[in-house]
Amino acid sequence: MKKTAVPNPGSLFLLAGLAVIYFILGKIGLEFASINPNVSAIWPPTGFAIAALLIFGIRMWPLILIGSFFVNLTTSGMLFSSLGIAVGNSLEAIIATWCINRFASGTKVFERPMDVVRFAFVAGLATAISAAIGIGMLISTRLLDPSLAHQVWLTWWLGDMGGAVVFTPVLLLWYARPRVSIQPLKAAEFVLLCFALLGIFYIIIPLRFPHPYLFILPLIWSAFRFELRETATLLTIIMMVTTYATMHGSGPFMSHASTTNEALQQLQIFMVIIGVTKLTVAAAVEDRKHTDQTLYTRERRFQALIEKNTDAVVLTDPGSVITYASPSTYTVLGYKPEEVLGRSGFSFIHSEDVEKAKKDLSDVVMNPKESIFGQYRMKHKDGRWIWIETIGRSLLFDPSVQAIVINFRDITERKELERAKDEFLMTAAHQLRSPLTAIRWNLESIIDPNIKLPPAIREKLMRIFESNRLMVKSVNELLDIAHIIQGKLPNYPEKTDVVAVISARISENADFARRQKIQIHLNSKLTSVHATVDPKHLNGAIENILSNAVKYNTPGGSVTVDILRHPNAVEIAVTDTGIGIPVGEQNKLFTKFYRTTTGRLTDAQGAGLGLFIVKSYVEGWGGTVTLKSPVADNHGTTVSITIPLKKEG
Ligand code: ATP
Ligand code: MG
Repeated sequence: MKKTAVPNPGSLFLLAGLAVIYFILGKIGLEFASINPNVSAIWPPTGFAIAALLIFGIRMWPLILIGSFFVNLTTSGMLFSSLGIAVGNSLEAIIATWCINRFASGTKVFERPMDVVRFAFVAGLATAISAAIGIGMLISTRLLDPSLAHQVWLTWWLGDMGGAVVFTPVLLLWYARPRVSIQPLKAAEFVLLCFALLGIFYIIIPLRFPHPYLFILPLIWSAFRFELRETATLLTIIMMVTTYATMHGSGPFMSHASTTNEALQQLQIFMVIIGVTKLTVAAAVEDRKHTDQTLYTRERRFQALIEKNTDAVVLTDPGSVITYASPSTYTVLGYKPEEVLGRSGFSFIHSEDVEKAKKDLSDVVMNPKESIFGQYRMKHKDGRWIWIETIGRSLLFDPSVQAIVINFRDITERKELERAKDEFLMTAAHQLRSPLTAIRWNLESIIDPNIKLPPAIREKLMRIFESNRLMVKSVNELLDIAHIIQGKLPNYPEKTDVVAVISARISENADFARRQKIQIHLNSKLTSVHATVDPKHLNGAIENILSNAVKYNTPGGSVTVDILRHPNAVEIAVTDTGIGIPVGEQNKLFTKFYRTTTGRLTDAQGAGLGLFIVKSYVEGWGGTVTLKSPVADNHGTTVSITIPLKKEG
């Protein structure tokens, strides 16, 4: 059902109030009518109507129809022509307001120079239409001699346009910011400006100085030193005073005109020109002040962010020469910012880490979209070596920066903790390995098939033996990790048959897979491929990948191992039909202790170390490890490793 709009009593009251103001302004305007009782060379209601529609909305247009109708009816007494003129006046304000809303930022029209120019254009056009309609009405009702049409149209047009250019700004700007904050110095300057204006009034009106353009001076002063609102107010005062003077036969406009109407026309042209130019200048100044203020605030904010941050920031050129250093450089490195300017960032880095730092810097330069992390030892001013973590990003192509931005912080304490943790790990693993191995040997001698044992005891011992095997495996992994962290992973490469290792690992996992209802298939045309790798590493890598493929599978699923011979390498791809790995987590899997949420739910026992070790093994022999998931239907994972093959020769 369609809703009927119910007029709001508040807006009706507002409408009536605005119509009364329009009426009063119209009556004042007609005081200046000389060429025809209905046509005035000064018409403030136009400015008032546009401001009112901009502020309260175009739907308030009836105020103009009512106000204008009564102004004209009470002047001419003619119903039809008054109605026609009222329609013209309403149309004028509606067109102007619509265009200003659409093309010149609405109520903010006087904030930007381009909008002021658009306003002037729109005001000129809309008032020309209204004047044409008005003249048509006056002629058709015989209130105007057609021979005077051109002259009267010009008066009407200029009157309306002057009204718009002078009164719309002052009303809009005071409505937007009605409060005046008085600062003594500014107030004194404004009083001085008013005195200067009074002086100019005196020179131009009583002394009849023939150059009214002198008024530009106080307007420029106001535009640069005060707000737009004050400039618009001065413009209105100039308009009112000069109009009053012209009506009473004095002022510069009377000296060149034969009639008061002609003088008022000249006054209007003058007001429109200086009104538009001064408002444009004032808007440009205001716009500039606003932009400067925004830039200043933004710059202060960023400066505070950088200066108060505990992380330090340096800017360098592509060759690492420091061009800016934030105050926190002192907190981190002990150097005042000015002490590091012009120096190479590498000069603070430990000689063993410089190569890595150079590579990281060139990565930063080559990958402008990426932030690159680094960790190096750097020399503090007091001579200590400290660990620094850096995040570098190239903004060389950003015209406002044109540098490499490097954030850095002291992580010595963290490194120390990490080192202590790794040391503990290694000591614990070492200490555990001997007793565990002793248990294994002793168990082996007890469960010897030649020794007769009650079946129940043998089964329990077998379980202990299996647990011991897992513990030895974990301890060996921990030791490997400790070695990897220290960069001292033992590596004893020898000629190893890759196919044989894979087959052995598959057989060893077959039991485990059967229990999980998983089938393992070997897919290879090769019967043997020899590569030079540490067999312990190759066994470890295959074991980890294969056991993952079984563990993170679903009952009834399968695991396929493909062995592919490439010209210079052999590739082993293990594909499962399991739970898959979320894309966002894939790059974290090769770090220590990382496990996916679904992985944790599927196997609570895992340590999150397997793939970390695999990566170190594979990189140790110069191969690569890649991961692809999902494989099909949102399920499955393929982990591939490569082993480079030496050319037979
Ligand atoms: P462990 O140290 O005993 O190997 P783990 O299996 O949890 O423990 P990783 O082998 O490093 O550790 O694997 C890390 C995580 O990656 C796993 O916890 C699991 O979430 C996920 N993951 C690894 N392989 C697969 C796979 N084939 N399918 C699904 N998720 C996998
Ligand atoms: Mg694993």
